[in-house]
Amino acid sequence: MKNQLKNKFYVTTSIPYVNDKPHIGHLLEFVQADTLARYHRGKDEDTFLLTGTDEHGQKIFEAAAKLGEDPKEFAGKNSDEFRKLAQAIGMSNDYFVRTTDDRHKLAAQKLWQACEKDIYKGEYEGLYCVGCERYYTESESEDEYCPIHETKLSKLKMESYFFAQSKYKDKLLTLINTGEFRILPEKRKNEMLTFIESLTDVSISRPKTQLEWGVEVPGDSEHVMYVWFDALSNYISAIGYADDSEMFEKFWPADVHVVGKDIARFHTILWPAMLMSAGLQVPKSVYVHPFINSGGQKMSKSLGNVIDPFEIINKYGVDPVRYFLLRYIPSNNDGDFNNDRFEKAYNADLANNLGNLVSRTIAMLVKYNDGQFNQVKVNSLSQLEGCISHCQFDKYLEEVFAHLDSLNGAIEENKPWELAKSDLSKAIEFLSGLACELTMMAEYLSPFMPDTSEKILTTFANSTVNTEVGILFPRIDS
Ligand code: ZN
Repeated sequence: MKNQLKNKFYVTTSIPYVNDKPHIGHLLEFVQADTLARYHRGKDEDTFLLTGTDEHGQKIFEAAAKLGEDPKEFAGKNSDEFRKLAQAIGMSNDYFVRTTDDRHKLAAQKLWQACEKDIYKGEYEGLYCVGCERYYTESESEDEYCPIHETKLSKLKMESYFFAQSKYKDKLLTLINTGEFRILPEKRKNEMLTFIESLTDVSISRPKTQLEWGVEVPGDSEHVMYVWFDALSNYISAIGYADDSEMFEKFWPADVHVVGKDIARFHTILWPAMLMSAGLQVPKSVYVHPFINSGGQKMSKSLGNVIDPFEIINKYGVDPVRYFLLRYIPSNNDGDFNNDRFEKAYNADLANNLGNLVSRTIAMLVKYNDGQFNQVKVNSLSQLEGCISHCQFDKYLEEVFAHLDSLNGAIEENKPWELAKSDLSKAIEFLSGLACELTMMAEYLSPFMPDTSEKILTTFANSTVNTEVGILFPRIDS
């Protein structure tokens, strides 16, 4: 049936800036976006998962120059670290965008031209250090002092293009209030609604004398695009805005942008305003994820509590790390990662609850019925789809694991080892129910813990237990 098009689902992470190594916050974002993509792929939707890196800016240019390296190559080396992290956690991304790629630059320029009616030249007042011969943003400076020279920065004006985002205030408010453009969770939506009230226009270029490493402004070789205009356009450049209209039309608008709370404003205000200006649809939703602390404090090198994402994957394995991040970093509040907390959750939920349930079911089916079981109808869990559509990963897993808990409870209550002596067929029926329940739970867990899910599905395929799985989650003894 040609007309029955499959649903599509387009989900993105934000693109990390390559001036530093990947941290656990990137890992959380990768895992969340990947889980959404896997969930929708599992429903046979045409799914596209995008991640990538943001590679322009003076910091990258200067760091490369110090090493005598080409800035794109330098950025590429750091970009590879993010690619490696995506692979290490089993991310199923369909594409990896780099803002230094030609197709991205062309798309950013095309978008600029499409927004031209709302772009005007003005003067930007910035904080300048004469010693460094450069401007600093307020976040880069400390109380308007140069971080290198520790001298007071002077306020200087420079020419800049501005984007008239304030023109889109009313339209944006309507889109948000009608739910056509969703900002999740609710408290972030309310924060953004407050910001929108005091919306001003935004500087979107720098003279090349200030910033050499960027996408040139179309029609003005003296200017390059400043940070957000360039970076945000990755979400359309990667799906062919400038070079593949068929693909672009298929996937745009994005269904979900997954972003950190520090950059929510750019994604929920500037980005939709740019798109409206260009005559494009706004994304359907932006999910703003929280931050991860360690031992109750923000991670910092000086505190020595920085968690290396590669290290925890190597130590604990892919699925346990995915599980912990999705279940125990609350979807709407900052959460804490430390080894103690991780190991407690691992032992309780994965080793004792899920792992033990699988082992007991296998062992009893082998003992009482040669590993055979009947297909029994089991009830589905009703809240899960709602959790996914609101990016409530923690609630989803809570529900699945509460059910697993109740299955372990049912074993204690029904005592199949005693039942087998008095009524074998009843015992087999009960154990068959467990096998079918586990199959369904494995399907539910598939987007969250793909490897574990696969193992459980293989264990209970074709009404016969496959005993090769062994122990899913060996206990951690600390
Ligand atoms: Zn300086």
